[in-house]
Amino acid sequence: MSQKILIVEDELTLQETLEYNLKLQDYQIDVAGDGMTALQLARDTQPDLILLDIMLPELDGFEVCRILRKEMNVPILMLTARDNEIDRVVGLEMGADDYLAKPFSMRELLARVKALLRRVRLDKEDARATGESGVSSDVLTFDNLLIDLTRREVRKDGELLFLKPKEYDLLVYLARHRRQVLSRDILLQRVWDWSYRIGSRTVDVHIHWLREKIEADPANPTRIVTVRGVGYRFEG
Ligand code: CA
Repeated sequence: MSQKILIVEDELTLQETLEYNLKLQDYQIDVAGDGMTALQLARDTQPDLILLDIMLPELDGFEVCRILRKEMNVPILMLTARDNEIDRVVGLEMGADDYLAKPFSMRELLARVKALLRRVRLDKEDARATGESGVSSDVLTFDNLLIDLTRREVRKDGELLFLKPKEYDLLVYLARHRRQVLSRDILLQRVWDWSYRIGSRTVDVHIHWLREKIEADPANPTRIVTVRGVGYRFEG
């Protein structure tokens, strides 16, 4: 079955260009021209990926992203028109998985779309393989921390945590390689896409966010420990 992409863009020409090119790649496409419609469509159609413009009528892309983040784990690729938007997209609370600054080439967009969707697919296969092999179940449990791989949910003391997709991916990767020292390079390569060439600072920032959520005392972490000069180790 082809993967579903929701395009949220109010500029008609760009909307049509995106739709046309993505359909050529055999993706199933839904289109929204404003933020409210985007929310509704995302809830109704449960897309595999959302392309989200920022300046939108009704509700802007930042708000849409913020709301959807709490409801689903769908990857979100933000389309930004201004430099000062980029700061907010990659900034702390947004939770977008990637962004493209306008104007962008269709080739670049398709490459990003493909990379994001591939990661989702690998994730699902990974979860299934782990379940079948019997090495571990679909649920990884570490004391009061529970990672449900099938539902992509994390609970601490039974309470659902809201993790951004990358935080979740990072946590699962760490958990699957418990007690191994993992360098920032390895984490960048496995959890992010190597081709993105984003700095190792990205890893540190995500580790910081994860600690805030899963550690009893984030200032003195015992679950994700720092291995000086190398990277991190998950203790469980
Ligand atoms: Ca716009």
